[in-house]
Amino acid sequence: MKAAPGTYALVLRSRRRTEIEVGCWGRLRLVPGYYLYVGSAFGPGGVRARVSRHFRETKRHRWHIDFLRACTEPVCAWCSYLPDRLEHDWARALGRMAGASCIHGFGSSDCGCDGHLFVSARMPGRAEMTAALGPSIERCDYRRPESGVSPAPASSPMNAGSGSVADLKGLGPSSAAALRNIGIDNADQLRGSDPFALYAALKAKAPGTSLNFLYALIGAIDGIHWLEVKRSRRMEILLRLDAMGLAPLVRRAHR
Ligand SMILES: [Zn+2]
Repeated sequence: MKAAPGTYALVLRSRRRTEIEVGCWGRLRLVPGYYLYVGSAFGPGGVRARVSRHFRETKRHRWHIDFLRACTEPVCAWCSYLPDRLEHDWARALGRMAGASCIHGFGSSDCGCDGHLFVSARMPGRAEMTAALGPSIERCDYRRPESGVSPAPASSPMNAGSGSVADLKGLGPSSAAALRNIGIDNADQLRGSDPFALYAALKAKAPGTSLNFLYALIGAIDGIHWLEVKRSRRMEILLRLDAMGLAPLVRRAHR
């Protein structure tokens, strides 16, 4: 994946038949099969930053797709780096694809499309996707993180043009050195990782690692100041750490 602007179709797999709550959008009935979500990424970090975020399991639910991601497994993303915003064309094209049904109104509150989410009982192949979305698309497979930390090999194209960790908001050279110690060498690897798993790995290496480091990791991944993370998400973060057996002792004593 490239850190360039473009359009993508994220493919998620549901193995279950269930119903999920999607924020204010409402309830979504999930069936076993593949969910295709179309979006574009013309902001900082481009397609790579956005799709890495979709791939990541843990994050604050910001978009409706985040709720769906939390209940499914990522498979891959089909990406195009053409300079035009193609998401609405792609949504129409997927709506015409054999076997795919549109989830009406999902992801299309700001546009005239029927929806930006589609469900198909089977995984559409490359030929079908190319026929629908055009020859510019590239497939990027999801790689399951090993124990939550997913450093891509240095030779991987995922790493091409990756920024330095120390350049991210709230992380300096000493944080970058600590992260290098657990296999995180660049900003993209960091963005593609679960901050809680990173924190657990950091604590395992250096038990004195401060909780502020976790706030800083989350802030760096989401592009916000660590104090803002601490202010707005402290309780949620402490509960998650408690479930992981990593909550600070002080908090446990109060329970
Ligand atoms: Zn649209």
